[in-house]
Amino acid sequence: MSGKRNITKEDILLRDRMNGAGTEVKGPLLFKPIGSMASNGIRIVLDETDLIQPFFYAYPNPDAPMQVVIDGYDVTVSDEGEVVATGKLEEQPSWCDAMMTDGTTRVGDAILTNLPTEFYININNRCYAHDSGNTCRFCGMGPSFSQNPLWTLEDTLKGSEPMTEAIALAAKNGWRGTVLLNGGLVPPDRRGQWYTDVLEGTMERFRAILDDEEILGELQIAVGNCPPDDFGEYHKWKSFGISSMEIDTEVLHPDWFKAMCPAKDKRRWDEGQEAAAEVFGRGRGASNLFVLGIEPMAGMLEGVEERMSKGVFLMPAQYTHHPDAPMGGMGNPTPEWFQEAYEKIIDIYFKYADTFDVDLTEDDRWGYTRRTKCLMPHNAMWISRLQEMGKLDPGLPSQYTAEPA
Ligand code: SF4
Repeated sequence: MSGKRNITKEDILLRDRMNGAGTEVKGPLLFKPIGSMASNGIRIVLDETDLIQPFFYAYPNPDAPMQVVIDGYDVTVSDEGEVVATGKLEEQPSWCDAMMTDGTTRVGDAILTNLPTEFYININNRCYAHDSGNTCRFCGMGPSFSQNPLWTLEDTLKGSEPMTEAIALAAKNGWRGTVLLNGGLVPPDRRGQWYTDVLEGTMERFRAILDDEEILGELQIAVGNCPPDDFGEYHKWKSFGISSMEIDTEVLHPDWFKAMCPAKDKRRWDEGQEAAAEVFGRGRGASNLFVLGIEPMAGMLEGVEERMSKGVFLMPAQYTHHPDAPMGGMGNPTPEWFQEAYEKIIDIYFKYADTFDVDLTEDDRWGYTRRTKCLMPHNAMWISRLQEMGKLDPGLPSQYTAEPA
């Protein structure tokens, strides 16, 4: 017996409440996050379920009803004074201690990430949406991209060298997950040969450092940007070692998409996803985020079902307002609204599970639903439903570190 129990809806609601309402955080923080991004936050591994509760330490709310007390690595979560969960701060995995070739930087400090499940390699230093005056309305990253110079191909490859090396060394030392080749939206005049060249150059370097085709095949290596001019390029990209396209859907209903993403053409985005499902595989090969909590529920669900029926897998990222976004301080829906949305999205996952390249209820590949995406609230619900069905034991499978051979 593992002493663990299945994840419940109450556990998932607790996570949403901690993030949605804010949380008062008390206690000295011995924790060292993985990666160097300021927004990295802290992660608590809850005792009974292994559920990983990520939240952003940068935004504690002293007026929140919920409180997290940290004592060394021990954590107690209270709601209106009542203890509702206990856990441990997540410790850094051992692969963080591998050294970069400069001999002085730890891999864990060189990584650029918001989450330890997904590491980023920058393939475009600016964002065309912001540069053209058509920033996606929910996004606050445009102003920071606009401070960067527009890099040549050579500059881009040189600039991404440290990250490429850090991720390859992390993988060599046990990390598994998604490598996302992303950055700001690639401008239209770079969606042809330039796009293929930057991916080829990045992957050549990554493969040379990793030097292990078996590990390469275990990673999800996704291009997280726009469709190329010619979908036939996907075949070349696949030969570089790329395994998936993440052409993010952002919002589902066409009218909402037009209003929220004026720099993007929904029909082209949809076609690019469908072509990716054909080349890289239905499901994992066309695996895309959308922002949940902006548009009304009914149109969102219709859109999710339409995309899933075409072999395009969608994952909801929960909307939170960003002060630098054009739509600024629009508030979030309630945690209960998100719960209902997750339930209905998971129902759609089950409906299309056996139409993907590997049945979704059995799929154990790194970078996909069981492994490395369980920090996303809807995916905790997916795991909970699989546990109820007896398809998964209590306690989460390892999320971003392979078991030692
Ligand atoms: S969502 Fe992406 S494309 Fe849109 S403004 Fe933000 S960085 Fe640019």
